[in-house]
Amino acid sequence: TPPELIRNFCIIAHIDHGKSTLADRMLQETGVVEQRQMRAQYLDRMDIERERGITIKSQAVRLPWAVDHKTHILNMIDTPGHVDFTYEVSRSLAACEGAVLLVDAAQGIEAQTLANLYLAMENDLTIIPVLNKIDLPAAQPEKYAEELAGLIGCEPEDVMRVSGKTGVGVTDLLDTIVRELPAPVGNADAPARAMIFDSVYDTYRGVVTYVRVVDGNLSPREKIAMMSTRAAHELLEIGVSSPEPVPSKGLGVGEVGYLITGVKDVRQSRVGDTVTTALKPATAALGGYKDPKPMVFSGLYPIDGSDYPVLRDALDKLKLNDAALVYEPETSAALGFGFRVGFLGMLHLEIVRERLEREHDLDLISTLPNVVYQVGMDDGTEIEVTNPSEFPGGKVATITEPVVRATILAPSEFIGSIMELCQSRRGTLRGMDYLSPERVEMRYTLPLAEIVFDFFDALKSRTKGYASLDYEPDGEQEADLVKVDILLQGDAVDAFSSIVHRDKSYAYGVMMAGKLKELIPRQQFEVPIQAAIGARIIARENIRAIRKDVLAKCYGGDISRKRKLLEKQKEGKKRMKMVGSVEVPQEAFIAALSQD
Ligand code: GDP
Ligand code: MG
Repeated sequence: TPPELIRNFCIIAHIDHGKSTLADRMLQETGVVEQRQMRAQYLDRMDIERERGITIKSQAVRLPWAVDHKTHILNMIDTPGHVDFTYEVSRSLAACEGAVLLVDAAQGIEAQTLANLYLAMENDLTIIPVLNKIDLPAAQPEKYAEELAGLIGCEPEDVMRVSGKTGVGVTDLLDTIVRELPAPVGNADAPARAMIFDSVYDTYRGVVTYVRVVDGNLSPREKIAMMSTRAAHELLEIGVSSPEPVPSKGLGVGEVGYLITGVKDVRQSRVGDTVTTALKPATAALGGYKDPKPMVFSGLYPIDGSDYPVLRDALDKLKLNDAALVYEPETSAALGFGFRVGFLGMLHLEIVRERLEREHDLDLISTLPNVVYQVGMDDGTEIEVTNPSEFPGGKVATITEPVVRATILAPSEFIGSIMELCQSRRGTLRGMDYLSPERVEMRYTLPLAEIVFDFFDALKSRTKGYASLDYEPDGEQEADLVKVDILLQGDAVDAFSSIVHRDKSYAYGVMMAGKLKELIPRQQFEVPIQAAIGARIIARENIRAIRKDVLAKCYGGDISRKRKLLEKQKEGKKRMKMVGSVEVPQEAFIAALSQD
């Protein structure tokens, strides 16, 4: 296809504003998916995506659309809609010339609308503003058209109105995409350069890599090379998604499609990398390649210790499909053999854990997640701490923690309580803008550790669910952090150690000691539970000793009852772990580590 007839676009929206539904309607209107094959969220292929109603992996699809009797090729690139996957969103955007900015006509602009819009603007995309869900009785298209026009600097009447549900306005939108978005430009005679914007593992075909060709062209059976690693592979198949894969004779300037080379690991074909030909390689890579960087770490342990090899194989398998997943073996005195696993964020953690449990039939315990700290020692050495147990005991000079730039959108009546919340999370207000008299955008710098776990829930509950949040990494800052250990009978329980801000160390110690007191059964002797920073005890609870033997209760009673009791005790023992001289039921660890 000549570049003049190609339009590459993506749909960007806040979660639930209807991106997947609109994409479905476009598949139908352009006839690429027949009515009877249609199912909701056609492009969200992973089970977890469909169940949670979110898009995790982006996908591209080719849509033919005739305008002025000329058939154009629209390549629609669906982007993931969650902060954990911002990097993948930004690569998808870089593969496009334009973006449909979709806003729910009953909700208005939300935090991810802004975050995605800014990303699109950084990539110089032409923006088509669209209000969706105009079929809803609660829709206020006039009001939000004005808001949207004010934001991007157009006239309210330029804002399109559609319903992904009923299909109203969708053909108009497709026409507008052809008329308003620029065609791709590139040098057809230059050495080939194509950007990888997605890479997925398929059991049958190996890694399928989605690319957008910028210069030159790629053809089947050619040797291609990855510019970041110089690794060469033979191109076994090249084609386009319609949306099922259709092999083609090659891909030229501006075209979007997939490559198959037979590699088995997405790490050999990474999002953001540039593909060129091995015989006539390009000299400069396309910009933007970044190694995925795990932001949150947690220990993952099988509840049944004999499942350890299953967990290891499951992680190896998952890694083929997830370049951002990192892990290494770890042992815990309390939990046994497991892995230290790094994730992009909490959603990524939940997805990985769910896939391990569901697809590999595992029961897992995960330890309290933590972010990555840099610890500078007095002697000048630097230590990267991804696990509280690695926190050095010696002379620490500085500790830095990752921070994020957060954007919060909310009705202005909640400004006070949002400020209070951010203050309690060590946030610094960076700026505030009114989108309209009753809606405000607040920008904060916050420690990642304060925002990543339960901040969003706290924000929602303080704003009656009206606030939305988006954030992106913004470097590091020094902070007064300490490691709090939890000791049973004087022995530290590694799974409960945590790195927290000094001001919050006491609260953490009291909370954990109190929780464990409830969860650990009484022993033959008194067991102190202590929370400590180094050698200093900051909190203490006691588990009192059992006064009488449990059998004394049925002294003189019938023997079968005694036997049953003994039997029960034995069964219980199997699931006990020894921490020093203290017997702790495994359930206590699970309960203490589960956040409620
Ligand atoms: P996404 O998170 O942006 O991909 O949003 P989805 O496409 O999954 O839609 C979120 C919810 O809004 C779903 O329950 C959809 O059925 C609903 N929805 C999407 N588009 C429309 C629309 O045009 N009208 C109405 N009434 N509901 C819609
Ligand atoms: Mg979706």
